[in-house]
Amino acid sequence: GHYDVVKFLSDIHESFLSLAENRQINLIFDTNLSQLKAWFDWDKLDKVVFNLLSNAFKFTPTGGTIRIKLRKELLTVKSLWEEQLIIEVTDNGKGISQKHINHIFDRFYQVDKTDNLKGTGLGLALSKEFVEMHRGRITVESIESKKTTFIVKLPLGDAHLTQEEKIKDEGQKPLVQDLLGYSNTK
Ligand code: ATP
Ligand code: MG
Repeated sequence: GHYDVVKFLSDIHESFLSLAENRQINLIFDTNLSQLKAWFDWDKLDKVVFNLLSNAFKFTPTGGTIRIKLRKELLTVKSLWEEQLIIEVTDNGKGISQKHINHIFDRFYQVDKTDNLKGTGLGLALSKEFVEMHRGRITVESIESKKTTFIVKLPLGDAHLTQEEKIKDEGQKPLVQDLLGYSNTK
């Protein structure tokens, strides 16, 4: 439903703080936004961010830094303005080589044989699915043994939708009573 993305991410950030302290990792939540109400499937988005953060923790050594960044971007889609939300998770861990980077969103794909001690290799495939269900995109940039950034882009408006999709989407919009208390939402 309708919820504040800033609060959503700051809660996730907080839930990872004790792990960060145990691992002596500097975990930063970085945003200029004070509030951003949006309409997402929060359960799915939670799994996406949770997986990106747990990956960052798995592949970043003691003393490292993990940064969650949230920002908004304005772009044109079919000559209409559309706002989009960008969540970035950056770590300065082991990185991913060019040889592997195109495969990491595949089901069960793991760079290292020993990585399967740490998971099943499904997290990113699921994350991609969940982001695309919101008509978003997930991409990765990495420098081996230096850093990795996962970038999640989620459209906030409906400019990118076809007329047919807009009508279909109407059925999923919140009822008026769900919006009580959110009176300053456009
Ligand atoms: P699961 O998420 O199912 O518990 P997993 O974390 O191994 O297992 P994915 O989240 O899909 O699976 O990640 C796939 C692989 O991509 C990882 O096994 C690892 O090799 C590589 N990878 C993912 N995130 C990072 C990162 N931040 N730094 C370095 N390598 C990464
Ligand atoms: Mg994972």
